Amino acid sequence: MIIDTFGRSHTYLRISLTDNCNLRCFYCMPEENYTFTPASRLMQTEEIEALAKIFVANGVDKVRLTGGEPLVRKDAGEIIAALSKLPASLTLTTNATRLHEFADTLQEAGVRSLNISLDTLQAQKFMMLTRRDQFRQVRDNIDLMIGRGFHVKVNAVIMKGLNDNEINDFVEWTRDTPVHVRFIEFMPFSGNRWASNKVVTLHEILATVQQQFTITPLAGDQHDTAKAFSIPGHLGTFAVISTMSTPFCSGCNRMRLTADGKLKNCLFSREETDLLTPLRKGDDVLPLILQNIAGKKKELGGQFTEDFQHLHPEDIDNRSMITIGG
Ligand code: SAM
Ligand code: SF4
Repeated sequence: MIIDTFGRSHTYLRISLTDNCNLRCFYCMPEENYTFTPASRLMQTEEIEALAKIFVANGVDKVRLTGGEPLVRKDAGEIIAALSKLPASLTLTTNATRLHEFADTLQEAGVRSLNISLDTLQAQKFMMLTRRDQFRQVRDNIDLMIGRGFHVKVNAVIMKGLNDNEINDFVEWTRDTPVHVRFIEFMPFSGNRWASNKVVTLHEILATVQQQFTITPLAGDQHDTAKAFSIPGHLGTFAVISTMSTPFCSGCNRMRLTADGKLKNCLFSREETDLLTPLRKGDDVLPLILQNIAGKKKELGGQFTEDFQHLHPEDIDNRSMITIGG
């Protein structure tokens, strides 16, 4: 078991396959002409498999592939197939633009649940937020995967003045569609134009939903990052991921491996541990993993507190989201 000094067991590994992406969400990929990490510096399929095996042998029972956009990687299918053989549940966070090409692969690999990012239900606004004309493809692919029986969660980052007027449109979507919408509080990362007054908090989101719907909290488990709610008569549910206003660090079981093989023990951790270089040299990386997790801070990477109103993004020392792996 991989346990930190606060007694938290780390059973969930998120692996970024690439920092490349075919969308340009401004809050995630700050520059239009961002230089992607060259393939030689990324973990190769066998290296991803070797590292994942070490984590699974030490208690990890859930692996999520993310990025960047994991499905832009040419060998994504091989990686999915290789990891599906491990005794851990495998899942994926994706922007959905390429899901139609991977539906069979995912089904064959036994993937049951997908997290899909979609911040707006309006085609024009999608173009503005992502700088790419892919709204129709994403919507069609969400329907495709729901039709194939996948449990689909839709992640929407809510930002004041941009898409907070669509909160109830998303909730309305859950009436006749078995889709699980998760509103995410806007988080600060290097260069992402974050400002505290653009965050829409859990409290504000619930107040908006309650203007139109009667909501019932759903029971969660200790590792949940989302507080989920049901609405009578709705096939789907909605939830809020309140990282900024009500962090859930006490139940955290997550570790992150960046596409270039660095271990981060928190989305906001300043420190990272290179596992890829020692792995390539044939060294034992388990002591490095344990040491990294032993250094995990109590909350929010030790960089800020939930009193985020006075936070300035330049006070946080971190990568941009696209290079971490969300
Ligand atoms: N490309 C995939 C996708 O978009 O789902 C996977 C990677 S993306 C970095 C993972 C998640 O991080 C997405 O749901 C995205 O909305 C979220 N994200 C990125 N930047 C964020 C920010 N500044 N605040 C909150 N969530 C963010
Ligand atoms: Fe790409 Fe996902 Fe980041 Fe958008 S949120 S730029 S889709 S990695």
